[in-house]
Amino acid sequence: MWSADTQKDEASGINSFREKGVPLIINGKEEPGSSTFDVVSPYTNKLCWTAASATTKDAIRAVEAAEAAFISWSQTKPTVRRDILLKAADILESRLEQNAEIMRTEMGADVGTSQGFVIPLSIRMLRDIAGRITSICGSVPVVELEGQNAIVYKEPMGVILGIVPWNAPYVFGIRSAACALAAGNTTILKSSELSPGCYCAVGRAFEDAGLPPGCLNVLSCPPQDAPAIVNAMIEHPAVRKVNFTGSTSTGRKIAKSCGENLKPCLMELGGKNSAIVCADADLGTAVKEILAGAFINSGQICMSTDRIIVHSAIAPAFMAALKEVLASNADTTSLPPTLVTAASKARVQNLISSALSSGATFLHGSSETYTSPTVDESQSVRFAPAILDNVKEDMSVWKDEAFASLAACMIVRDDEEAVKVANRGGYGLSAAIFTENLRKGLALARKLESGAVHINSMTVHDEPVLPHGGVKNSGWGRFNGKEGLEEFLVTKSVTWQD
Ligand code: NAD
Repeated sequence: MWSADTQKDEASGINSFREKGVPLIINGKEEPGSSTFDVVSPYTNKLCWTAASATTKDAIRAVEAAEAAFISWSQTKPTVRRDILLKAADILESRLEQNAEIMRTEMGADVGTSQGFVIPLSIRMLRDIAGRITSICGSVPVVELEGQNAIVYKEPMGVILGIVPWNAPYVFGIRSAACALAAGNTTILKSSELSPGCYCAVGRAFEDAGLPPGCLNVLSCPPQDAPAIVNAMIEHPAVRKVNFTGSTSTGRKIAKSCGENLKPCLMELGGKNSAIVCADADLGTAVKEILAGAFINSGQICMSTDRIIVHSAIAPAFMAALKEVLASNADTTSLPPTLVTAASKARVQNLISSALSSGATFLHGSSETYTSPTVDESQSVRFAPAILDNVKEDMSVWKDEAFASLAACMIVRDDEEAVKVANRGGYGLSAAIFTENLRKGLALARKLESGAVHINSMTVHDEPVLPHGGVKNSGWGRFNGKEGLEEFLVTKSVTWQD
């Protein structure tokens, strides 16, 4: 285990953001930027620190630094890259608490989510990617012509641009940076304006692990500047691939720019994830997993359970079990969890109002909790979890990503109808099926148009060995596992005639 220099850690961690703001990291140097923007904590609704605003010129400098660093990084031995990534994982582990505190301050996440889920998962991912580096190898096919030979090489691509969202910053920063670096590429991480400190902490861990300058550059900017900065980088000839994790609507814009510049892109987009409860489901498991899948991280996960599709034969028993568990877990002493911004809360309130006005009802929650007047400013982003019943497929609450602790329930006649309902609506990221009949579960899983299907566990499931990504409006390409590494390699065929 890497032994942390505590004093250095404190100087470079959350306190440094409070004192000096979140810097840019370009060519191994931290820069304050020519101007800054405010980062507001959902806990207090007040400024927690400022972050450097990268300009288009800064972005081009970052690309050029990555381009220069590629010459030697792409030639490093796999074991050297592996050891640097493993050291970065040890450093992140030694900074678990302070990095979790940065995440809680910027995003309003709770201790369990930040310290027990997101950061440990990101460290496991980093170690898994590091462990795969030495397995990168090409092949030696036997070609048709007598006397001719061939080797198929797997090579790094060049400079990779990663654009990341705010909601599980360590996971998205690590997977974007580490997959690119593992394959011998260099990279620029365009962080989210809502969690720039977390992405800077990722950059610092790699720097302190001995990653050469320019291999990983981290840029932040206010939202209005993102299109110009990102497009300038996509257009730059040194940038050879783009990976984007974020909303489907932004993904369309990034993919359009990549198309115009003929740059390949990996798209990890939004989800509207269904949990199907079959007639033979174990109710205890279904209720526990569905509630966790809907409410963990305040429902602000791309794989969160949005739609609960229940077979009519088990619907009354399921609803009763769901209500019983919710009643027994009711906590009247704590404040409701936070969402990331007031705009996020307003969006969810609109989804609920619109559904109620068209006939939906509360299965859990109430009009008082979702419209509750804010007692003070700090509560303006708090949102009590809710589940709606009597919803219709044409309601926005059924069609649009809520990205909040809000789910909707629909009763169907049979499993075939459940699959049809789950497949309608465009998204396809993650799904869950609850049944005691594994053969049936596997057959239904094959029919679901989804990047992942989990039988008897929640829709939120991301782990290093499982390829992660979606179909349809949820995107294309995969992170994690060998598929994740392949995304960042290019195949070259070389032949020679004896
Ligand atoms: P977002 O699309 O608003 O922003 C994502 C990133 O894109 C940010 O860095 C932002 O600054 C940048 N951006 C925004 N508009 C841009 C533009 N016009 N040009 C260039 N860059 C732009 O997403 P968000 O609110 O940060 O994250 C939540 C969304 O991300 C949800 O839809 C969620 O489902 C999705 N998400 C998907 C996955 C996945 O793996 N599939 C994981 C996490 C989050």
